Amino acid sequence: MSTSAESSGLKVCPACGVKIAPGGITGDRVLFSAGPPGTRATLWTRVCQYAKRPGCINKDQGQSSGEPSDSRLES
Ligand SMILES: [Zn+2]
Repeated sequence: MSTSAESSGLKVCPACGVKIAPGGITGDRVLFSAGPPGTRATLWTRVCQYAKRPGCINKDQGQSSGEPSDSRLES
């Protein structure tokens, strides 16, 4: 089997260089190079929203721009 994920489940964003550790039901924990760990939302706020790189694995920015999931269909 080929998997890019490490055995520990720790993921590293190739775009931001930030480590993301799976936290189960409590949510993933983001390990910054400096400062206390945060959430994916924190990562997005602090790094990813500025980076906006295609290789970024953190897409959990909350409400994504564009059409909402509950978009009404024109009939
Ligand atoms: Zn990122």
